[in-house]
Amino acid sequence: MSYYYTEKLCNSLLQNCKTLKQIKQIQSIICKSGFETDPLISGKFILNCAISVPNSVSYAFKFLSYLQFPDSFMYNAVIRGFSESDTPKDAIFTFIEMRRKSIFPDSFSFAFASKSAANLRDLRVGFQVHCQSLVFGFNTHLFVGTTLTSMYGECGVIEYARKVFDEMSVRNVVAWNALLTACFRCGDLRYGEEVFDQMPVLDSTSWNVMLVKYVKAGEIKFAKELFEKIPVKDDVSWSTMIHGFVQSGNFEEAFTFFREMRKLCFVPNEASLTSVLSACAQTGAFESSRILHGFLEKGGFCGIVSVSNALLDAYAKCGNIGMAKLVFSALREKTCVVSWTSMIAGLAMHGYGEEAINLFGELEKCGILPDEATFVSVLYSCSHAGLVQQGCEYFHKMKDVYGLEPSIEHYGCMVDLYGRAGLLQKAYDFILQLHLNDCTTLWRILLGACSIHGNIEMAEEVKSRISEFEPRDFGDHVLLSNIYATKGKWKDAAAMRRSMSSLGIKKKPGWSIIEVGKTMYTFVAGGERDEISELAYQKLKEIMLRIKVEGGYVPQTDNVLYDVGEEEKEYALSRHSEKLAVAFGMLRLSEGSVIRVVKNLRICSDCHTVMKLVSKIYSLEIVIRDRSRFHTFNGGVCTCRDYW
Ligand code: ZN
Ligand code: ZN
Repeated sequence: MSYYYTEKLCNSLLQNCKTLKQIKQIQSIICKSGFETDPLISGKFILNCAISVPNSVSYAFKFLSYLQFPDSFMYNAVIRGFSESDTPKDAIFTFIEMRRKSIFPDSFSFAFASKSAANLRDLRVGFQVHCQSLVFGFNTHLFVGTTLTSMYGECGVIEYARKVFDEMSVRNVVAWNALLTACFRCGDLRYGEEVFDQMPVLDSTSWNVMLVKYVKAGEIKFAKELFEKIPVKDDVSWSTMIHGFVQSGNFEEAFTFFREMRKLCFVPNEASLTSVLSACAQTGAFESSRILHGFLEKGGFCGIVSVSNALLDAYAKCGNIGMAKLVFSALREKTCVVSWTSMIAGLAMHGYGEEAINLFGELEKCGILPDEATFVSVLYSCSHAGLVQQGCEYFHKMKDVYGLEPSIEHYGCMVDLYGRAGLLQKAYDFILQLHLNDCTTLWRILLGACSIHGNIEMAEEVKSRISEFEPRDFGDHVLLSNIYATKGKWKDAAAMRRSMSSLGIKKKPGWSIIEVGKTMYTFVAGGERDEISELAYQKLKEIMLRIKVEGGYVPQTDNVLYDVGEEEKEYALSRHSEKLAVAFGMLRLSEGSVIRVVKNLRICSDCHTVMKLVSKIYSLEIVIRDRSRFHTFNGGVCTCRDYW
């Protein structure tokens, strides 16, 4: 073959080469034609092998070491390939090999070598690369200086990063951004702000680095101020803000920003879509989820697995398990374990424990490996469906079959499993035999179970174990004083309350959210009266009267912690936020709509009874998501079968 022909052939083959097997075929063509000594042909071959074809960089290195006259271009390609691989240390070995063969390194060699030191986060290696660059006079070079600055930042030494930066003869905005990022890598927010103010030119990366930093630090107010100042906002700026709002619980603002972004004709990226869907999930915004779903389908976003998973999760948490199932079955490839886990969790939350467990069986049949989160969902399903035996089997299977180490979450599920089923002693022994340093979380779950089953002796024992670690938790005090109160032990309950106030423990207010139109309305138990809540109170009064007359409702006043008159107790009950939210929904939603409410705490048994009666007398479907699960009330019964 002629040189010209071989070069052309290799070029076109390399352009389409995707696998190591193809690489080997091309290599044999080169060697057979005898042109492996030609620097142009073998250089191109090495470059493609090291950079473009996955998992082939070691092969490139092997080829390189057989060559009689390798050059710096070839070595740089391999150093770069290794610096971006899982084994960045090999980049350093290649660099040393290059020096041993007395081939002179250039700016690229140093840049890639210092990049691998950064990926290794190995300061000692970083120093050596820096020293070598000083010997060859490349330390002030723009490209090398920038990567050295980044490297010191990654290694957490801001002083050196700054020193290298100051020694550079020319600095562009990329170098400045490297320094800015370095400040934040080292966790120095103030210094980062200082650098940001010093920067002569800012590009979109600079603004976004700063924005991300504020969001990560939870400084959403500063982030918003900065966002307003950005002259040209890109999709990263928008999605960072949306993510920030969701993270800090400002859901309404997340929705507003998302709408604003769309109005400006920005195509939302994966990050902003998953963020806004997570906002839907957290607030139970079904209408918004549905609208987003339509948008996702039109825009072809459903093919992105993470987006589909977020949509599935949103539907499940908004109380519409049917739509969640639809999204799950529409997934083209069901290879992602997250999709399965979300679906299993969704089913479990809605009380379809058996269905959830069946789905887990299907997952196993499909050969998909479950992870820790999947097992949390499965164990949760078992505990909410009262399947003690099966739950224990899964718990052992997790370790024995799948080699997954159980974490505190799994232990929590097991305690819950025993506790709900009334096997309090078993739960107690289970916690003891774990020999964990801090079991407060687990004891607390057991305390909850003691409260449900009204076991005072065990509750006191458990409470004293918790107090060893955390004497200041409100929830425990409430639970215990609740147990006393329901048993009529008012003195003990009162003593408990006194100790609560002396420890300075504040009650977490209960709130409920309902979505009407596109607006989210929040109701707080016993909160301030405004126009909206006034309407809700009026409607609630009417509802309570009707269920008393037609449904024979008697207030379960033992849910109220205070030793007060019966009438006052009833008044306190009528101020529970979920009752207000449902009343408001009945007032404002069109006839036949399902009333969906999200509550931050566990629903109390009085509210539960009221919801059952309302669903029957008003022929309504009410879906309440409380802290632990979904309750769907229909025709006077709830899907939890009064077991929650
Ligand atoms: Zn209640
Ligand atoms: Zn229920």
